[in-house]
Amino acid sequence: MKKRIAIFGSTGSIGTQVLEVIAAHPELFSAEILTAQHNDELLIAQALQFNPNIVVIGDEKRYAAVKQALSATPIKVFAGEAALSEAAAIDCYDMMVAAIVGFAGLRPTLIALSEGKSVGLANKETLVVAGDIVMQKSVEKRAPIIPIDSEHSAIFQCLVGETRNKIEKVILTASGGPFLGKKPNFLLNVKRDHALQHPNWRMGAKITIDSATLMNKGLEMIEARWLFNLQPDQVQTLIHPQSIIHSVVQFEDGSIKAQMGLPDMKLPIQYALTFPNRVKNDFPRYDFRKPSQLNFEDPDIKTFRNLALATEALNRGGNLPCIMNAANEIAVFAFLRNRIGFLDMTDVIEAAMEKLPFIEKPSLSDYYESDGEARNFAASIIKL
Ligand code: NAD
Ligand code: MG
Repeated sequence: MKKRIAIFGSTGSIGTQVLEVIAAHPELFSAEILTAQHNDELLIAQALQFNPNIVVIGDEKRYAAVKQALSATPIKVFAGEAALSEAAAIDCYDMMVAAIVGFAGLRPTLIALSEGKSVGLANKETLVVAGDIVMQKSVEKRAPIIPIDSEHSAIFQCLVGETRNKIEKVILTASGGPFLGKKPNFLLNVKRDHALQHPNWRMGAKITIDSATLMNKGLEMIEARWLFNLQPDQVQTLIHPQSIIHSVVQFEDGSIKAQMGLPDMKLPIQYALTFPNRVKNDFPRYDFRKPSQLNFEDPDIKTFRNLALATEALNRGGNLPCIMNAANEIAVFAFLRNRIGFLDMTDVIEAAMEKLPFIEKPSLSDYYESDGEARNFAASIIKL
């Protein structure tokens, strides 16, 4: 029996790599749902290649083009945001790969869990915003969440066979991004094209900017806290520029496990799809002789203040991570359009975290409200 995969966000960096993994193992997997926001051309090409049950195009203006292009096939075509949720509720798949970027990924992921589907989670914002509710749903419905984010996949892999053993701490490694070692006077004048050049990973624009500001590592601390049921002080970060050690678990007895490999998202993607098995592939292998050194240093949180803000959100909890995430999405969007500078992003996020009302035990609708309010607030100070 093939595992039937629904890829939410199939046209993105993660989504296309999920399809590469599926294409390499047609005997193991089929693609049943593909979704995209704007890129109708790629969605059509993917649909013609993988012959899914359903495709969803978020942007309703592109519905006619997709429908027309697939008219000779039995593929069902839907459009709009509501269709995304409706598709997630259809019982035609075994695992959802949550590869939408940002808050928009929350609702379909929650629906998949509610339906008892397993979720391969790339969309970290889902756990940043509403980690308590999402993890509770996963437990209640016995719907496993398998991390795809490389650091969390690393921790997950280190924890196989360790269910009864207590974790002392986890260490999330960070490449440091393109501006490692730089100071604020340099960052002041950084432009989008420079910030989009990540040294080790090719990813979507939003996460690439998050990596340059270290917000990505902040989001990942919160993601790890929920995925592995940790206290905030059990989650640490460490700069490791080569991105070979993907993360580390230290157990109660002081023993340390690390998961290593070349920086290639196809490996954690494949692992999430095949878990608990490992499947042979032809990805390039890491050679211990090159690079000859693996380096580690503490992150510079005075320069990269987003990481300090995210640590505060992690520690205080409630709706603060949700507020931070929403303000960050708006700030990154504005930076990518050259509307604000690199360091302004942090000021926008900090202002939102200070101004918006704190809720200690938010409901799901509180999270939606906080997200909307924080977006409006951030947009108003940027004058978007
Ligand atoms: P991307 O921008 O390349 O792709 C995003 C996908 O989501 C596209 O298919 C797009 O059509 C869809 N999408 C965008 N906005 C949408 C909306 N409002 N509603 C519905 N669909 C929408 O992003 P990516 O780099 O593939 O990242 C996806 C997620 O995976 C992010 O949460 C990111 O943090 C996480 N992640 C990515 C990588 C990576 O290597 N790219 C690594 C770890 C984690
Ligand atoms: Mg990561």
